[in-house]
Amino acid sequence: MDRPSNGRRPQEPLSSHCWLEVPDLTAVDYQSPAHILLLISDPKEGPRLSRVLSGQGHRVTLAADWDHALSQLNDAPELELMITDLADRDEHGGGPVHDLGTPHILSSLPVIVLCREQDLTPLMNQWANGAADFLSRPYGDTELLVRVRRALIQSRTMHLYLRAAHRDPLTGLYNKRVFAEMLPREMSRSVRHGTPLGLIFADLDKFKNVNDTLGHIIGDQVLQAFARRLCLWVREGDIVARYGGEEFVVLAPGAGVEGISVLAERIRQAMERPISTRRGSLTVTVSQGAAVFRGKQSLSPDGFLNRADQAQYLAKDLGRNRVVLAEE
Ligand code: GH3
Ligand code: MG
Ligand code: MG
Repeated sequence: MDRPSNGRRPQEPLSSHCWLEVPDLTAVDYQSPAHILLLISDPKEGPRLSRVLSGQGHRVTLAADWDHALSQLNDAPELELMITDLADRDEHGGGPVHDLGTPHILSSLPVIVLCREQDLTPLMNQWANGAADFLSRPYGDTELLVRVRRALIQSRTMHLYLRAAHRDPLTGLYNKRVFAEMLPREMSRSVRHGTPLGLIFADLDKFKNVNDTLGHIIGDQVLQAFARRLCLWVREGDIVARYGGEEFVVLAPGAGVEGISVLAERIRQAMERPISTRRGSLTVTVSQGAAVFRGKQSLSPDGFLNRADQAQYLAKDLGRNRVVLAEE
C-alpha cells in the first residue's frame, strides 16, 4: 500500500494502518462539495468551468499543464475528481487518463474527459483505460454539473464499500482478507530489502468465560479494547488485523527477534491493565506467539504464520499470559 508516484491515491489515509472508524454503509455523502482538479487546454473554457463548479461550492484547482496536475495529485490527497480534455495527450499516447486510469479503475481518481464528436473513437480507448465519464462539446452547465455529481456519488460509494471490505466491523482493524494479501507482499519486500519481518499471533485467554459469564456484548467490548491497546504500541507501517474471533495478528516490517519480542511484551503488559465495561472492570490476558522471517529463508506465508501460531499454542500450554518466540 505504498503511495503510488503516478498520482493514483491509496484508498485510505496512509496513517490509518491500525484502527479506523468502520463506515456506516447507509451514509454515503451525496452533498459535500469536492476538491476538483481541472486540466483544460482551452484558455477560456478552464476559467469558465472553474466558475461554474465554484458556484456550486466546489473547490477548484486549475492546473496549468500536466506536470502541474501531477504535482497536485501527489500533494492534495483530498482531490476527488479530475476534469480534462484530450488535447493533453502526447505523441506517445500518454496523458491524463492514460497515466491515471490503468490498470485498476477502482483505485484511481475519477476522470471526466471533455471531447469533441470526432474524438469519440480515441475517447473510447481512454474510457477503457479508466476514465469515469465523458462529455462531448458543446455541453451545458447543467449537464456538466449532473456528470460531476454522478461521478462523485459513484466514487464516494466505491470508497466507502472498499473501506468496509478491508475492515473488521467490530474492531475497525484490517480483516483477514487484507492480512492474507499483505503477508506475502511483506515477505517479498523483506526478501528484496534483506530486512527482517516480525509476526505476532495473539489469542485472548479464556475468552469464552467472558461471554459465558458477562455476555457477548461485554465480550465485544473486550475485543474492541484489545484492538485499541494493540494500536497504541505498533508503529506506522505495521499491519494489525483481526484474524478470527479472539485472534489477532501483527506484521511488523523491520522487526527482528528483539523488536518483535519487545512489541509482544508491551502488548501483553497492556492487557494486564483492567478494562472497564458496563458490567464493571475486568482483566483479560493474552497469549502470543512471535516469529521472525529473515528475508532469505525459503518459507511460505502459511509456513510463517504457522510458526507464530504454534508458538502461541505453546504459550497457552505454558500457562497463558505470555509470549513465546518461535525457533527459527
Ligand atoms: P484459550 O485461552 O484456550 O484461548 O480459551 P478461549 O476461551 O479464549 O478459547 P475458545 O476458542 O474456547 O473460545 C473463543 C471464544 O471467542 C468463543 C467465541 O464465542 C468467542 N468469540 C469469537 N468471536 C467473537 C465475537 O465477535 N464476539 C464475542 N463476544 N465473542 C466472540
Ligand atoms: Mg482462539
Ligand atoms: Mg482464546
